[in-house]
Amino acid sequence: MEEIFSPKSFPLSEEKLREVIKKFPTPFHIYDEKKIKENFHKLKETFSWAYDFREHFAVKATPNPHIVKILADEGAGTDCSSLAELLISETAGVTGEKIILTSNDTPADEFQKAVELGAIINLDDITHIDFLEKNAGFPKCLSFRYNPADIMNKGNDIIGKPAEAKYGLTREQIFSAYEISKNKGVKRFGLHTMVASNELGTETFLYTAKIMFELAAEIKNRLGINLEFVNLGGGFGIPYRPTEKPVDFKAVGEGIHELFEKIIVPAGLEKIRIATESGRAMTGNAGWLVSTVLHEKNTYKNYIGLDSCMANLMRPALYGAYHHISVVGKENFPHDKIYDVTGSLCENNDKFAINRNLPKIDIGDILIIHDTGAHGHAMGFNYNGKLRSAELLLKENGEIKLIRRAETLDDYFSTLVKM
Ligand SMILES: *Cc1c(COP(=O)(O)O)cnc(C)c1O
Repeated sequence: MEEIFSPKSFPLSEEKLREVIKKFPTPFHIYDEKKIKENFHKLKETFSWAYDFREHFAVKATPNPHIVKILADEGAGTDCSSLAELLISETAGVTGEKIILTSNDTPADEFQKAVELGAIINLDDITHIDFLEKNAGFPKCLSFRYNPADIMNKGNDIIGKPAEAKYGLTREQIFSAYEISKNKGVKRFGLHTMVASNELGTETFLYTAKIMFELAAEIKNRLGINLEFVNLGGGFGIPYRPTEKPVDFKAVGEGIHELFEKIIVPAGLEKIRIATESGRAMTGNAGWLVSTVLHEKNTYKNYIGLDSCMANLMRPALYGAYHHISVVGKENFPHDKIYDVTGSLCENNDKFAINRNLPKIDIGDILIIHDTGAHGHAMGFNYNGKLRSAELLLKENGEIKLIRRAETLDDYFSTLVKM
C-alpha cells in the first residue's frame, strides 16, 4: 500500500487519485478491500483460542452488499437491525444462522423475514417473545439482549450507564425470558449484550466478557440451559485522531481468554461460541470521503467550502466527532492555517472540522476526509435537497469499482406525487 498521507494513510497515489476523479467526480466515498479483510482477520485472530468464533458484521455501518460480501467471503456473518439490512445480507449471500437479527422496537415484517431466512433472532424485550410467536413463529435459535444497568471498571467506578439506554432486558427478566421460551418449545439459545461504542481501552471489553460469562454460567445453574453462544456486541473503536492508540486486540483476546478459562470452562460450557457484531472496526478506517474545495471565504473566521456536506458524512455535526483531513499534494506543507471546513447546508453545524490546523488551501484542492468507512455514507440524508454521493471500491487487484452510483435529482423527486 502506497502511503502518501501522513500520519493517516490513503491507499492511492496522488496521480492515481486524480485519474479516478476524472472518471468519478467528487464527492465520493472510496473503500479499500484489502484493509477491510485485514481488519476482519485481526478480530478473528483475537478469538483464535475459542472453540468457535463468529463475527456478525453490523450491516448498518456500511450497508452495501458489495462490502458485506467481502467480509462474508472471509467467513463473517451479519448483524441486521432492519428489513433492508436483512435484504442486503441476503443479496450478499449471507443467510441462515450466519445472520443475527438484533433490532429493537421491531416491526412484524422484520421478524417474519428473519424467520424465513433461518436467522438467529435476538430479542430486545421480554414482551417480544409473545409478539414474535404470534407474528412470525420462533426461529430455531433464540437469543436475548442483556442490559447490565451499570458497567464498572476494576475499581468499581461506573464507566457507563446502560440503565439509561433503551436496549435490552434486566437481569431478572433475562432468567424469566429463557424459562418462558423454553416452555414454549424453543430448544437453542444464545445471549447478547452491546454496551460499548467506539471504545479504545481494553478494560470495558474485559468487563463485558466477565459479566456475560458469569451470566451464562448462572443461566446454566438456574435453568439447566447450555447457551450456544455469547455475543459480546460491537463497539471496538478506531483511532480517529492521529494521537489516539488503536484497540490492543492482543490484550483484549488474552484477557477474555483468561476469563473464559476461569468462568466458562468450570461451568462446563467450553464449547460455547464467542460472537461479536463489530461494524466500525471492520470498515471505519477502510473508507475515505474525497471532496473538492469550491469556495474560500474570509469573514470573522476562515472557511473552506466543499462540494460535500453533512448529507455525505454526518458524524462531525451530529456528535462533534473528529475526522482527520488531508489536502492532496500538501501533506508535507506546514499546517499553519486555521480553517473551518464546511458543507453547504443551511445549518451552521454542517462543518467537517472547526478551527483545524491545515496547510494553505486553494480553490480546486482535493481534500481527503479519513475514517469514513463506517457510519459515514450510511447516515446520509436529503435535507436541503442534497444528494448522497457515490461509493467506490478499491479492489485488491487495484481495480476501482463503482459499488453505488451517486443519487440524482430524479431519485430525490421520485417519491413525490405528480402535480
Ligand atoms: C451499532 C451496533 C453495532 C455495531 O457497532 P460498532 O460500534 O460499529 O461496532 C453492533 N450491534 C448493535 C446492536 C448495534 O446497534
